[in-house]
Amino acid sequence: MHHSGFVALIGRPNVGKSTLINALLGEKVAIISDRPQTTRNQIRAVLTRPEEQIIFIDTPGLHKPKHLLGTKMVKMAESTLQEVDLVSFIVEAHHPPGQGDRYIAEILEKAHCPLLLVLNKSDLTSPKTLADNKKLYSQLCSFQAIFTLSALCGDNLTAYLDAVSELMPEGPQYYPPEMITDQPERFIAAEIIREKVIQLTRQEIPFSIAVVIEEMKMRERKDLLDVRAEIFVERKSQVGIIVGKGGLLLKEIGTRARQELEALFGEKIFMDLRVKVKKDWRNREEELRRLGYR
Ligand code: GDP
Ligand code: MG
Repeated sequence: MHHSGFVALIGRPNVGKSTLINALLGEKVAIISDRPQTTRNQIRAVLTRPEEQIIFIDTPGLHKPKHLLGTKMVKMAESTLQEVDLVSFIVEAHHPPGQGDRYIAEILEKAHCPLLLVLNKSDLTSPKTLADNKKLYSQLCSFQAIFTLSALCGDNLTAYLDAVSELMPEGPQYYPPEMITDQPERFIAAEIIREKVIQLTRQEIPFSIAVVIEEMKMRERKDLLDVRAEIFVERKSQVGIIVGKGGLLLKEIGTRARQELEALFGEKIFMDLRVKVKKDWRNREEELRRLGYR
């Protein structure tokens, strides 16, 4: 019997949702930005174990909307609540509940699934403060269970993960086992670059190209999103076609993709595109997997 389910992690910005997901998966799930208001899509992280698959959804920082995009994000978070099998409310163990936590608790009242409370950052608190805060948080909603852990130090993760596992209903393996994240933003970026290559080269370049986003992350303390991508072609002759005379065509591909992605993500982007030959990549199983095709 196989069990599976979707678990939404909800909490104020900066409480450690992304850190917890990374810790649970034991490897870094590329999340493009830790800045709450730039993560517009939900990031899913898939944990596959024998007989079970748990899909964690890292919801964008939930806060009282100040502008339209904020409203949309809250709507998305609210609709997520209706679709998941379990919700984990992540809070900071060393701080008592604030306005933001109470706002989220109100939204959580609408969830129909079990609720777990996670007091994260246990490493930053004393037993006394922890006990006090735990009591205050536990009164916000009716929680099925409460966990105290440190995502950063890796303390007490197992107890939480076991509880999540217990609560997963019977269900199929939704994602291939080797898949760790569906990285929607990377996928979208790759598709947009691919589209520009095809548009600008017309028939000369068939669909025998693949685009892989090697890196996509915010520069620290700068409002700039670095996007480093590789365009794979099958034959050497195709490199020149894509690069164009004096590199002009590749530049144009980059400019158009950048403009579209900037509008989509609402961030300034620095785009670095490279063209590489990968012979017969379409026929090579392991290449396909590496490139994210299955
Ligand atoms: P998110 O906005 O909820 O996704 O929060 P992040 O995962 O980006 O974490 C915000 C900050 O809190 C980062 O600097 C983390 O290193 C830190 N952090 C996360 N978990 C812990 C923890 O258990 N202990 C401590 N001391 N810091 C943590
Ligand atoms: Mg985060």
